[in-house]
Amino acid sequence: MDVMKMPADLPDVNLNSNAELVLKKRYQRKGLDGTPIETAKEMFWRVAASIASMEKNYPSSPFKTKDLARTFYTLMTQYDFLPNSPTLMNAGTELGQLAACFVLPVGDSMDEIFDAVKHAALIHKSGGGTGFSFTRLRPKDSRVGSTGGVASGPISFLKIFNTATEQVKQGGTRRGANMGILRVDHPDILEFIRAKEREGDLNNFNLSVALTEKFMQAVEHDEEYPLIAPQSQEVIETLKAREVFELLVRKAWESGDPGIIFIDRINRDNPNPDQGEIESTNPCGEQPLLPYEACNLGSINLARFVLEKDGGIEVDWDRLREVVQLSVRFLDNVIDASEYPLERITETVRKNRKIGLGVMGWADLLYQLGLPYDSRRAIVLAEQMMDFIQKESRSASKKLAMERGPFPSYETSIYKEQNLGPYRHATTTTIAPTGTLSIIAGCSSGVEPLFALCFVRQVMDGEKLTEANSFFVKALHDQGCYSEKLMAEVIEKGSVRNMEFLPEELRSVYVTSMDIDPQWHLKMQAAFQKHTDNAVSKTVNLPNSATQEDIYKIYWMAYEEGCKGVTVYRDGCKSVQVLCTGEGQ
Ligand code: UDP
Repeated sequence: MDVMKMPADLPDVNLNSNAELVLKKRYQRKGLDGTPIETAKEMFWRVAASIASMEKNYPSSPFKTKDLARTFYTLMTQYDFLPNSPTLMNAGTELGQLAACFVLPVGDSMDEIFDAVKHAALIHKSGGGTGFSFTRLRPKDSRVGSTGGVASGPISFLKIFNTATEQVKQGGTRRGANMGILRVDHPDILEFIRAKEREGDLNNFNLSVALTEKFMQAVEHDEEYPLIAPQSQEVIETLKAREVFELLVRKAWESGDPGIIFIDRINRDNPNPDQGEIESTNPCGEQPLLPYEACNLGSINLARFVLEKDGGIEVDWDRLREVVQLSVRFLDNVIDASEYPLERITETVRKNRKIGLGVMGWADLLYQLGLPYDSRRAIVLAEQMMDFIQKESRSASKKLAMERGPFPSYETSIYKEQNLGPYRHATTTTIAPTGTLSIIAGCSSGVEPLFALCFVRQVMDGEKLTEANSFFVKALHDQGCYSEKLMAEVIEKGSVRNMEFLPEELRSVYVTSMDIDPQWHLKMQAAFQKHTDNAVSKTVNLPNSATQEDIYKIYWMAYEEGCKGVTVYRDGCKSVQVLCTGEGQ
């Protein structure tokens, strides 16, 4: 593909050593012998130029393509904003698939099931992750008309999807990620809840149970609820809602799986109910989508939006406004530039034009502002921050609708009725985990607190990276507390909260996820969810000593606080952790 020539005076890109490694290994284009054929600078230019070149489709654009390409380059290389990994990997290449999130339907026939397996493989190959609901499949042991035999049920098919995934590396670089969903009223729900009991089972899947409002009411009133055969809609049996809820809690306590999503709440916010129900999210849970829908994400690095004023540090709202506006234009162009492995997906995406702008570097911002993550003031700022981003992204979407037209299904969407004026996108905001993006930008991931102030990160098939938070190191220097001995202790412990010889302010501001009471984790998720169209990726971390009752409380709180789902993780409950403190390394 032809990419606009790189200007000779384009500034170089500064990369931290972890970013350099990740980009080289996964993102820079490679030749047949596996060595990179582009530099990191060329990579960012490839992305900036190819996304900016979409302006040519819109004669009314106020931007010259060349200028916009440079602006996008600066946006990314200053680490103010990064698009999701597939955009970085594939923009301006033959593959051209730029979205991270997909949902595919799984119908109740051999044809439909294996079509979904094949489509998922194609998506994984192109760098995307897939979510599926298995709820339409007839339960285990029910009749199969054409053979006179019995059906093997959703869980046995899940295993086939899992095995197929094992063999396909995403874009040749990472293994595919999947979400498997089953509604709580499916007759095989108990087997599903136990499906990841054994270590290593369904290792390419996150599982979530879709809880209905009716089910939650039954839990609250300690009633029974019906299990319904998906085809005949017959009631097969009834279960005690509290017993099922308690089983969910127990499994989450043991292994973190399955998570839960509140499916009716997700559908209450479905902008296009005329196109059917939302049954599933993408693999990490932040993006509910219709069947055959895809969404591209992008994240603003909040750590970069501070300014010094009157001797203090404040949020730089004006610059944030500009960056949100530009990021929405960027993500809108990504939709036009992206090629999808299936025509059905192209149609659905082009009709609804969902984008998911989110944030990363939240914990780093709080460090700079001197606000403890587990404080009322941090929660208030979270709401204010996301409210601002949501409003600005909608205003950008509206401007683009004037320039380029609204999303084609706008007329039949919920916005038409609400009389809010046309938008260019059915949704604008999503908070992604930013697992790799945050490494590239050198910031804390998504809206998560830091896992540890200094830690060893396991990435890419066992490789290890050591990192110390730069704001923490600077604060130690500023307060005259820095020493090699102290750093070694921090690496070992991961936290300073109990180091009483350090100043109180340092100990309260520089918190890590394990220092934070689980209820604050949840409150933070709820604060961001309040002003996010799609959902928020967040893990509620619990200490190893947490009880099942603690998890029960968190689940209930997630329901009451308006979250769209919740994932908990009790320290040490799985043998392989993505992030580890120095202990045991
Ligand atoms: N994703 C995936 N495989 C991965 C990581 C992520 O398919 O190994 C998809 C998945 O849909 C996930 C989404 O990308 O929900 C966003 O994840 P994240 O923000 O961590 O991705 P990044 O852009 O940082 O790589």
